[in-house]
Amino acid sequence: MFNSLKAQAPDKILALMGQYRADPRPEKVDLGVGVYKNADGLTPVMRAIKTAEKQLWEAETSKSYTALAGEPAFHAAMAEMVLGADYPADRLACLATVGGTGACRQAFELARMANPDMTVWVSNPTWPNHLSILAFMKQEYKLYRYFDNDARAVAFDTMMEDLQAVKAGDVVLLHGCCHNPTGANLTLEQWGAVADLLEAKGAVPMIDLAYQGFGDGLEDDAAGTRLIASRLPEVMIAASCSKNFGIYRERTGCLMVLSDAASKDVTQGTLAYLNRQNYSFAPDHGARLVTMVLTDATLKADWMAELEEVRNGMLGLREQLAAELRQLSNSDRFDFLARHRGMFSRLGASPEAVEKMRVDNAIYMVGDSRLNIAGLNTKTVPLLARAIIDAGV
Ligand code: PMP
Repeated sequence: MFNSLKAQAPDKILALMGQYRADPRPEKVDLGVGVYKNADGLTPVMRAIKTAEKQLWEAETSKSYTALAGEPAFHAAMAEMVLGADYPADRLACLATVGGTGACRQAFELARMANPDMTVWVSNPTWPNHLSILAFMKQEYKLYRYFDNDARAVAFDTMMEDLQAVKAGDVVLLHGCCHNPTGANLTLEQWGAVADLLEAKGAVPMIDLAYQGFGDGLEDDAAGTRLIASRLPEVMIAASCSKNFGIYRERTGCLMVLSDAASKDVTQGTLAYLNRQNYSFAPDHGARLVTMVLTDATLKADWMAELEEVRNGMLGLREQLAAELRQLSNSDRFDFLARHRGMFSRLGASPEAVEKMRVDNAIYMVGDSRLNIAGLNTKTVPLLARAIIDAGV
């Protein structure tokens, strides 16, 4: 029967990783896959995580199953980090998931169980896996315009125009911060306007928060999410610990669902059911490390300090790249790179220009001209700037 299978299109970003690995040129620069890298091109284990791992190795006496929805201590630590210390525990159901991807998947599943007729509204562009998961689930989705390609900024009026068509019970997927792939984000005022609109429509926001701490800081990056959570009766939040704790392969994420207090227990039970049906228990190791880091003052302070180093490093590279390009282009048309936040920016280059930079300069970015700022260092920034100009961007 397996001869009836059709070849799946390879994931474009993962295919690019393979192409990069096979390139023999020593000066090659990888701006493709969404993983943080330091100036030496490494993705280190964060100090606090390493310490927590040592402590856990000493203290852990059993690897028996934990709770189906994950440990309550993990839920509380994540809720506090994402929603703030005064989060509404009486309305909040939580689920430990297989990374942020698992949280997104379970959120779509939950929403569909609650409302089989819903449509999911997704920003255009978005992280491609959102769309491929929705397509795989045969879940109806619609795109709302998000990015102004000329200004390299959020096309807010257009976005709001498209969201006028949202119906009660639809799910509207928003990136909490550090929009992937564009790097362009809503202002707090715009978050307020989105909250007004969703409230008026009776739609349910789903916030994908995969980069908290990578943009303007842990608190500021959660501001939009907190505003939505304070305004809307029902909210889903898919949080990933992959980037901000640097534990990509541990597959750690958390789905948080706000409902009315009367629905909380059934929602919580449905979340546990979804884990059971899909993979039973979510991985525990990463969730346990995150809980330890967030609940120990010393570990937390060290983690926050390192996260700030990571964030400020990326901001410095953004400033440097924008400055180089200002000089080379004799214009401020690349200043958006310093305004964008997170690991990514969409450069706005044509596929031909992206290909030219790969062929001529061994610079690898995703075909839509998304570049990973963390793939740069102070020495490669001038090379990229030169290549961008030479490719006629
Ligand atoms: N959402 C977005 C927007 C992302 O960029 C990512 C990571 N690429 C994720 C979710 C999921 O990350 P993970 O499953 O590795 O935690």
